[in-house]
Amino acid sequence: MQILIAGGGIGGLTAALAFLKAGHSVTVLEKAPEIAEVGAGLQISPNGMKVLDALGASARVSRDAFRPRAQELRLGRSGARIFSVPLREASQARWRGEYLHIHRADLVEALKACVTDRAPDAVRLGATVTGYENTGTGIVALLSTGERVAGDLLVGADGIHSSVRAQMLGPDKPRFTGNVAWRAVVPVSKLGDYPPPETACVWAGKRRHAVTYRLRRGSLANFVGVVECAELGDESWTSVGAREQALKDFKGWNPVIQRIIDEAPLLLRWSLYDRPEMPKWQDGRAVLLGDACHPMLPFMAQGAVMAIEDAYVLAKEVGRALAKGEGADVEAGLKAYEAIRKPRATRVQNVARENAALFHRSNPLYQLGTYGPMWVAGKYLPSVVHGRHDWLYGHDVTGPG
Ligand code: FAD
Repeated sequence: MQILIAGGGIGGLTAALAFLKAGHSVTVLEKAPEIAEVGAGLQISPNGMKVLDALGASARVSRDAFRPRAQELRLGRSGARIFSVPLREASQARWRGEYLHIHRADLVEALKACVTDRAPDAVRLGATVTGYENTGTGIVALLSTGERVAGDLLVGADGIHSSVRAQMLGPDKPRFTGNVAWRAVVPVSKLGDYPPPETACVWAGKRRHAVTYRLRRGSLANFVGVVECAELGDESWTSVGAREQALKDFKGWNPVIQRIIDEAPLLLRWSLYDRPEMPKWQDGRAVLLGDACHPMLPFMAQGAVMAIEDAYVLAKEVGRALAKGEGADVEAGLKAYEAIRKPRATRVQNVARENAALFHRSNPLYQLGTYGPMWVAGKYLPSVVHGRHDWLYGHDVTGPG
């Protein structure tokens, strides 16, 4: 088949790799004129790494990544540790995959290199998809230049503001959550005595929380700071915010957090919007994946990982439909993909929503009731804390199921 993919981000490039590996021809239509170093860090959990392993991409992806020692929760102002559970070794032993911290640009670049190794001309940059036409036996992707690109399947992997979804489901009606996320990446060498720990660390506070971790083999510090705020803004990897505002938002916080904000060469500001479950993910030969069909709040660090899982399952289910030979029903494969993926993605979306409340509580009684048992579990029963993630990190879409 000729597979057209709108969007050369994380989900689109993983889908390209999965379809190439299955023997199909692939064209990725990416609107950006070049793959630039936009965005910040991402956490890629073992359920995502198992897919990258199966696609032969994990060595390249992990080359410049960082392997966090532990998962921690601290109080934002004092830095007091509420719990810490091992992650580096536990991840392989318990969930059969690595837990990585990686710059989004490094991940996209590594995936792109894996795709172009197999098919040097597969990625077309500067190609903006505006819509599609189902033709009965195939599909045509419509580009902003008026060009029509014909194929057998169009995968809408064009992210949170997807044009493919807009045509399939009509205008988007996101709900502002009242939260904005600051993001910054800073060389550790600039942080003096206050580098962030070599862990995946959540810092909890009143109506705000922060997440710190390391990137590029530990040489960069990544910061995400989520603050409740009434003012609406953009959902974009490139919206820049003012340092004075970020410092105000984290006034009185631990020096680790303040130092990162002080030294950040650029502070990105992403307003967090929520969307309900989409009624459907496919229409004829057009199908959605990743943020295009299940954008989620970042409080589970799973948006990109879910896009990676989607990509693998999509190629697998299309392959299964085609294996029926004469009269193969590709659209049945797309429906099977949606039926498998939607319940899982929706569950992750829901848990991410609940986590926002967990990190932002400031009532001392609540803190005692919630953090007390967490401290005990982290110290004496780390496997209880790990067990809470088994359904997520232990999942393996590359298995025979
Ligand atoms: P994207 O990565 O957004 O890629 C979409 C691509 O499509 C882009 O390259 C874009 O240029 C292109 N495109 C858009 N429109 C068109 C068009 N019309 N035609 C052609 N191309 C087009 N996820 C994690 O797994 N772990 C984390 O730790 C994590 N942290 C996060 C922290 C924050 C603050 C935020 C906001 C998100 C976080 N995420 C995380 C979520 C993650 O970034 C997204 O879920 C992920 O990037 C989605 O991948 P995607 O391929 O669906 O979309």
